Amino acid sequence: AVEVHDVHKWYGAHRVLDGIDLTVRPGEVTVVLGPSGSGKSTLLRVINHLEKPEVGYVSVNGELIGVKRQGERLKELSERAILAQRSRIGFVFQNFNLFPHLTVLDNVAAAPVATGKLTKPEAQELARELLGRVGLADRTGAYPRQLSGGQQQRVAIARALALRPGVILFDEPTSALDPELVGEVLAVIKDLATSGTTLVIVTHEIGFAREVADRVVFIDGGRIVEQGPPSEVLDHPKHERTRDFLSRVL
Ligand code: ATP
Ligand code: MG
Repeated sequence: AVEVHDVHKWYGAHRVLDGIDLTVRPGEVTVVLGPSGSGKSTLLRVINHLEKPEVGYVSVNGELIGVKRQGERLKELSERAILAQRSRIGFVFQNFNLFPHLTVLDNVAAAPVATGKLTKPEAQELARELLGRVGLADRTGAYPRQLSGGQQQRVAIARALALRPGVILFDEPTSALDPELVGEVLAVIKDLATSGTTLVIVTHEIGFAREVADRVVFIDGGRIVEQGPPSEVLDHPKHERTRDFLSRVL
């Protein structure tokens, strides 16, 4: 499970997360919605400890992220320990972030080798299997620049899967894509969702959220305004701000 406990985050005097509490159970798919600047990316970055909250903490599968308890206080983990934790949390970015100088196969195989989890031949075998799963079995030797945006994002998803993470975080995975490429990426994410992978997805694709989400969380001004199953939050929102947001994105 992912547990976010009373997380507050400021940038200078600007309060970006204002007491976020969120639990994502194993196998659950949570879709996070909210206006631009509401703190969605910051929330994902805090879960992965790319940002450190000023107050509160995050745990993934029972393990505190970025910190350990020392008596009553929380103490920073070493950079090395944080990297090891991060390898158990997949992150798929808006702009793919593939390694441009590596082939598709090596993009997927690199992390399990670098973290000492698999030998190179084992990692390449896994990479072939995962690339097959995202529909790219025939492009293993290509370089990222030779692929469409949708193909690159599917490589990024295979790369996230290669570390067998306990949860995968997606930050607007389709918002940089041409409209005709969105469907192929959503289909891959949907396949993960139905196969029981724990996912947290920031997206403005409301139809997709309705199909795959166990829970929809609406954030505004760094707070969770409401959360619940899509049939409630999307179809019968309780709050004016949620209704207003949905009327603008639908
Ligand atoms: P979008 O939908 O546009 O991606 P978001 O909900 O993901 O928005 P965040 O990126 O989390 O929003 O940003 C929340 C607020 O924090 C914004 O006001 C943003 O300007 C501010 N912010 C984000 N990162 C930083 C930073 N590194 N330094 C200062 N302010 C930041
Ligand atoms: Mg964002």
